[in-house]
Amino acid sequence: MIRKKFVAGNWKMNKDVRESLELIAGIRATLAVPPMNADVAVCPPYTSLESASKALAGSTIALGAQDMSRNDDGAYTGEVSGRMLVAIGCRYVILGHSERRQYFLESDELVNAKAKKALVAGLGPIVCVGETLAEREGGLTESRVASQIRGSLAGLSNAQLEGSIIAYEPVWAIGTGKTATPAQADAVHRHIRGLLATQFDQKTAEKIKILYGGSVNAENAAELFSMPDIDGGLIGGASLKPETFHKICVAAG
Ligand code: PEP
Repeated sequence: MIRKKFVAGNWKMNKDVRESLELIAGIRATLAVPPMNADVAVCPPYTSLESASKALAGSTIALGAQDMSRNDDGAYTGEVSGRMLVAIGCRYVILGHSERRQYFLESDELVNAKAKKALVAGLGPIVCVGETLAEREGGLTESRVASQIRGSLAGLSNAQLEGSIIAYEPVWAIGTGKTATPAQADAVHRHIRGLLATQFDQKTAEKIKILYGGSVNAENAAELFSMPDIDGGLIGGASLKPETFHKICVAAG
């Protein structure tokens, strides 16, 4: 099964509106000729999304948010709904990033509720899973990822899964400069695809993009993306530099 590669930049809590527009101008300039075989998205902070949406008009670069509410509308101070994100041009939303799981105590149950809302709103959820260093060292990588996949995707239909993207992001590799080796990452991606085949079915599992995230850079991207079950990357720090992000996108396609 040929799956088109996908590269998404997670800007995290970086870049105000002016800085976001500068970064988008840089990304548009370096990606003037888009990669042939990869889709590209950027995920700025909430405050930059609307300006980013306008600045991306006419390009092939899609827009995503970094989180959303499990609720539709109403008295949920500080929250932003999927419908609001769609209304300003978002196509994707990152859910269950390890920083949200760690600092904001997001559970699989919450990620699952958000994923369902995202799909109903018309967004493609990028659902993040991954083990901590202690879990890896304790031989718990596969069981940790299995419980996150099971819980975060519970109750989705096959069609809804097809509208979703998975990101495997070992927590010990995020922002640390430590990358999983291509073989280590691919083994977990294969495990995740097997889990999807059991929870949904084989045919659907084969269609799902599973991205790798964790200190991907211009030097290691090509080797990671060449692995059979790695379908692209979720890129943090390296997505904040247009030249580096461009090299990673080119490595994908
Ligand atoms: C991320 O935040 O999703 C990520 C992978 O970060 P970094 O590339 O900086 O490790």
